[in-house]
Amino acid sequence: MRQRRARAAPARAAGLLALVVAGGLLAGCAGATSAALPRSSRPASAAAPTAGSAGSARPASPAAQPASTAPSPAISPVSTPAARPLAGKVIVLDPGHNGGNGSHPSIIDRLVNIITEWKPCDTAGAETDAGYPEHEFNFNVAVRLAGLLRADGAKVILTRHNDDGVGPCVTQRAEIGNRAHADAAISIHADGGPPTGRGFEVIAPGLVPGHNAAIIGPSHRLALDIRNAYHRITREPYSDYVGTQGLDVRTDLGGLNLSTVPKVFIECANMRDAADAARLTNPRFRQRVAEALAAGFLAFLAPNSHP
Ligand code: ZN
Repeated sequence: MRQRRARAAPARAAGLLALVVAGGLLAGCAGATSAALPRSSRPASAAAPTAGSAGSARPASPAAQPASTAPSPAISPVSTPAARPLAGKVIVLDPGHNGGNGSHPSIIDRLVNIITEWKPCDTAGAETDAGYPEHEFNFNVAVRLAGLLRADGAKVILTRHNDDGVGPCVTQRAEIGNRAHADAAISIHADGGPPTGRGFEVIAPGLVPGHNAAIIGPSHRLALDIRNAYHRITREPYSDYVGTQGLDVRTDLGGLNLSTVPKVFIECANMRDAADAARLTNPRFRQRVAEALAAGFLAFLAPNSHP
């Protein structure tokens, strides 16, 4: 689903990435509304009731079982800290959209307050010209990435646990990361951009005064680490139609505005571009995407662990 309109006033955020917002920008697949940026807050009275099924997951801890028979000698730790560089870290993965969103407009079209504006609870997402849906890509990458991060010792929480449900609302997606006190969080998307454009971009939160100042700095560092790893490992080019050098800053995304933990969005490629679509539909590329994002989290959370 395309939901892009040119933005009249790009977010001007203080901080490391302020330079990337200098040009006119297009909205991402998350669905920006035009000319809606930093507007004074509307009443925040409508706390969003839930529309989806996801809650915070508590992955089972793979505690070692004691030997079942004869006494065994004490077993030394299976993994060294170097082998589990993300031990003790909590990472929230938010696969954008959901497979049931498109058939439940009454739920996902309900407006929720994201501080800078009111937006739909969630959207159906993009798809390739051949019909490969963005929600499926996002979820597939998230599952692959979760496995890699857990192997590195992280506690990983997904904002949804299947690809055929509805929602959750963007407000809840942010809240899941907040409640988990995540060390880092990412919303995974692929864009429904112009057919003539390709490439990826990482979106960092812009400043929403009174709400997210504490996460601007670390989120921008996370954006750089993710951008660098993604570019190096996937060799996907920087977007040639949005952002600057693979980076963007926005204040019209609820998942960023409402986050109290370091968080970024990524648009992994443009589903409407033939070359990008060929990559997105290839499971080997999706595994490479997951590896690249895992490398980005490692650079951010355990910079001394390994290259
Ligand atoms: Zn999306």
